[in-house]
Amino acid sequence: MIKAIITDIEGTTSSLSFVKDVLFPYAREHMNDFVRTHAHDHDVRMLLDEVAAITHVTTDNQVIEQLLRWMSEDKKITPLKTLQGMIWEQGYKRGDFTGHVYADAARNLKAWHAQGKRLYVFSSGSVHAQKLLFAHTEDGDLTPLFSGYFDTSVGSKKEAISYQKIAQIIELAPQKILFLSDIKEELDAAQQSGMQTVWLLRDGVPGNADAAKTHRQAHDFDGFSVE
Ligand SMILES: [Mg+2]
Repeated sequence: MIKAIITDIEGTTSSLSFVKDVLFPYAREHMNDFVRTHAHDHDVRMLLDEVAAITHVTTDNQVIEQLLRWMSEDKKITPLKTLQGMIWEQGYKRGDFTGHVYADAARNLKAWHAQGKRLYVFSSGSVHAQKLLFAHTEDGDLTPLFSGYFDTSVGSKKEAISYQKIAQIIELAPQKILFLSDIKEELDAAQQSGMQTVWLLRDGVPGNADAAKTHRQAHDFDGFSVE
């Protein structure tokens, strides 16, 4: 019997385009203003100084140029990720956008929670960004549904050891955990750790040929049952 469900975000609870077409462009568009407005706030200053130290530049202008360059190159550098998270937080709070969660995902997450299943997130976005997204959805604040959040600080999403670690942290046998994702390599890794899996094949995501049917498949969260 499944006691806990761990879900991926992008392509699973939420559309791929939300992150790609809303969040990242928003951070890019607001980086310059945000840094100039908050350059003297302690937390922001520390991050700017960290970027300056990594890249051997001296002025805030150069730091901003570097941040913009990293964003163009889709770099996942910690101070950049932290600043992006701060900019998104501002955007969510201002109501410039809401966190996208498919209606079927929100509905089933609520139902599973009501049935006593423990819910977790495992996503490559930072835990801060995960919480922001679920706190500001069209269905309201969904964070009370979740018992915990994991990002890649626990390990790669494509390695079984990461899933073993999560199972240890949440103190459940992997066999009692169901992992949901749109990426086969992640599902393979979770399955290798002993977890059960469902492969989400959402609209617009090409149905990847899995002739061996190693994972259960569903088009949305209504398309499978959790026993
Ligand atoms: Mg995904």
